[in-house]
Amino acid sequence: MPNAQLTAAHSGAAKDSGLTNLLGLTRDELEGWVEGLGEKAFRARQLFKWVHQHGATDFQAMTSLAKSLRDQLNGRAELRELPILRDHQSVDGTRKWLLDAGQGNAIETVYIPEDDRGTLCVSSQAGCTVACGFCSTGHQGFARNLSTAEIIGQVRMANRLLDPSGRRAAVSNVVFMGMGEPLLNYEAVRGALQILLDDNGYGLSRRKVTVSTSGVVPFIERLAAECPVALAVSLHAPNDPLRDRLVPLNKKYPLAELLAACRLYLRSGPRDFITFEYVMLEGVNDSQDHARELVSLVTQAKLYCKFNLIPFNPFPASGFRRSPAERVRQFAQTLQAAGMVATVRKTRGDDIDAACGQLAGDIQDRTLIRLRRLDAGAEGLALGSHETSSTHHA
Ligand code: SAH
Ligand code: SF4
Repeated sequence: MPNAQLTAAHSGAAKDSGLTNLLGLTRDELEGWVEGLGEKAFRARQLFKWVHQHGATDFQAMTSLAKSLRDQLNGRAELRELPILRDHQSVDGTRKWLLDAGQGNAIETVYIPEDDRGTLCVSSQAGCTVACGFCSTGHQGFARNLSTAEIIGQVRMANRLLDPSGRRAAVSNVVFMGMGEPLLNYEAVRGALQILLDDNGYGLSRRKVTVSTSGVVPFIERLAAECPVALAVSLHAPNDPLRDRLVPLNKKYPLAELLAACRLYLRSGPRDFITFEYVMLEGVNDSQDHARELVSLVTQAKLYCKFNLIPFNPFPASGFRRSPAERVRQFAQTLQAAGMVATVRKTRGDDIDAACGQLAGDIQDRTLIRLRRLDAGAEGLALGSHETSSTHHA
């Protein structure tokens, strides 16, 4: 018999349908499941390829599988992704999908094409418990964790919609910088990472998959031991009092512990540096003193790192302002003069409010119900930017 427990843990969707959502099973789990059907384990590899490499949406199309297996799959399994509420394309090629996570919750997935890569920014939770004041996801509170199937479904969907012929995988890099704190949904995220890295899955190298965290120290350590991929840490402040205010999780895992975990991570991580994200908030964390303090913090910690300075994306009621460009430039210069690598993140997709996880607080029940009504009754009505008022920081 297929493993019912696996079904519940790895696929949020399966709870209601009673079917196992194959998008959420790692290759090992799929092997166990296929053996439970009385089939040989090698069939699982073929099936896994159909699901993730060919993006098949229908079991009957899996022509290399025996008809008897396809018939079994039809009755027991499904390939379910979150429904698309909105699909926006920016003039610069950035594409944003708003997906329905049920019960009035929406999540975002953003695709950012560049000359040499296509980066997909995925969400790991609907909402977030960390509640950083400068983050619109944080302002919304927490709704639920996404399952492995719902995380992988974002990648599958993007590849399929970006190249319907299925010849080329548009997504070459995946960053967990959408909504949610990935390391507070560790099991589901680890499952998704394993599928992304699997040669018979998405076949991405560890360097091309980045987990961004606000600093959940015990899970940084677990990730290092179990599935090391590139790590980005949202630092945002050079000292504990300021970081306590900006990233409340700092009270639980202060800077000294966080930096020690980063050092440990470098031993197993695929890169020889940690990326520190630093959102530039005018008059809050952007002075020359802050820059110098930051230099001494990482120097004393003997930590090889790169800084990614992110222009703050304002949203209503955040109470913060974006640092002027000149200030960001000076901040970067001070870091660089001390021998650090510091880059300023480009903003992309501004014309479609292409947030990477910065879904504004008004995407809640009322808005979604209204969106559904628009979809049902008034085809062609565009969604005004004020209705999503999401921001972008990719
Ligand atoms: N929860 C994880 C990953 C999602 S947020 C984390 O915090 O790292 C991804 C990045 O966007 C983080 O560095 C976060 O601090 C940053 N961010 C959040 N709100 C932002 C905003 N309004 N403007 C710019 N960057 C923001
Ligand atoms: Fe959560 Fe990250 Fe937003 Fe903080 S910045 S509230 S950790 S999603």
